[in-house]
Amino acid sequence: MKNILEYIHKHFERFVRELTEYATIPSVSFPGYPAEPLVESARWTARKMKEIGLEHVELLEIPGAPPFVVGDWLHAAGAPTLLLYAHHDVQPPGRPEKWQSPAFAPERRGERLYGRGVVDDKAGALLHLAAVEAYLKTEGKLPVNVRFLIEGEEETGSEHLGKFLRQYRDRLQADVMVLTDTANLDVGLPSLTYRLRGLVDAMVEVRTLDHPIHSGMWGGPAPDALSVLNKILARLTTPEGKIAIPDFEEGMLPVEGRERERLCTLPFDEKKFLREIGAVPSLRLAGEEEFSVYERIWCRPAAAILGIDAPQVEKTSNQIVEWARAKVSIRIVSGMNPQKSLERLCAFLAKDPPDGAEVAVHPGAAGNPWKVDPSGAAYDAALRALKKGFGRDPVLIGCGGSIPFVEPLTQAFGGIPALLIGLEDPYCNAHGENESLYLPDWKKGMEAALWLYAENFK
Ligand SMILES: [Zn+2]
Repeated sequence: MKNILEYIHKHFERFVRELTEYATIPSVSFPGYPAEPLVESARWTARKMKEIGLEHVELLEIPGAPPFVVGDWLHAAGAPTLLLYAHHDVQPPGRPEKWQSPAFAPERRGERLYGRGVVDDKAGALLHLAAVEAYLKTEGKLPVNVRFLIEGEEETGSEHLGKFLRQYRDRLQADVMVLTDTANLDVGLPSLTYRLRGLVDAMVEVRTLDHPIHSGMWGGPAPDALSVLNKILARLTTPEGKIAIPDFEEGMLPVEGRERERLCTLPFDEKKFLREIGAVPSLRLAGEEEFSVYERIWCRPAAAILGIDAPQVEKTSNQIVEWARAKVSIRIVSGMNPQKSLERLCAFLAKDPPDGAEVAVHPGAAGNPWKVDPSGAAYDAALRALKKGFGRDPVLIGCGGSIPFVEPLTQAFGGIPALLIGLEDPYCNAHGENESLYLPDWKKGMEAALWLYAENFK
């Protein structure tokens, strides 16, 4: 292993240059952005795969989706096969004036590399490409079989991944899936994610009048739509921070035993947490006080109002607003049925409209949560590999966000273990401006991958 590890050290600066080049491609997968950069980033990925010695490298197309990039190395007879997943698409850059250096001209400042997509998720893709390269260039072979799947529409919800899977299942067949797109609890603290929340959302639309009217002449008996909407939104949670929708927690798996113990022993510093979220000095933490902050983020449902459409303040006159709408989302947790949760949310928003207003509710997404029992050979192997790579005991964590395809992807191969690892940290600002990658952790992640490939997964 020594010479393989040395290969990573020796070539690390080149890997940083390659990531810099990869991240100059503005491969934004959102509607309204050009499709060419996604093809370019797919081609870049494929070229890199071929360069390091992967085989059957190909851009696979599903109509309407950016290219999927696959490639494999399957010569470790008798050894298991890893499906290495990452994505080459990125979030939109956001507000250019907020970036300290341009989003698509990555810049190294201190030990971090700044640029859109550097941590989410181009570093995830390159981490494994670097680790595979290290093996193939030093030993000429890998101790495990690998299949790469680098997709191009993760940031917009992996809409075509199901179809892709049905069409190309044979090319992805594996014993263990490794998804490198999640977070570490802290810088330098390797973390394995074993649970994700799901998500339901809906739009609620309120109409009280067929046109705006003078608030002096009619105000009092004539209710404005924005006040009605506010009343509806305020009903969503109890003063104690619980979701107020009846039976909403039906089926939810309780947090008990070892899991509860683990949650309690994770390092947590409230001041640091408030700093990380950019809280104003007077802010208090919200939600259900009887649960720890990690439990609130990973294991409890949470509602958020994502946006409201109503007249802009600048353009208001003394008129009673006749119409308003809002988008509401609720993160759901393991055991809860997404479709049922969505139906319950919609029914709750539509029920008993204040002042008899017209309320229309439009159901949106219903993404499933995911949770595994992180025990067994594959998880033990991952924890050992992370420990060796980072030189520190790894932690098992949840993630409050959603990756809807983890469940179907693992189920497609008979419920194979899924190892969720990644490079995001509390300071990386993924999806925001000044996204960054902490380079020392990237290197440690590569080393962990070397150890992981050498593990016995049986
Ligand atoms: Zn990502």
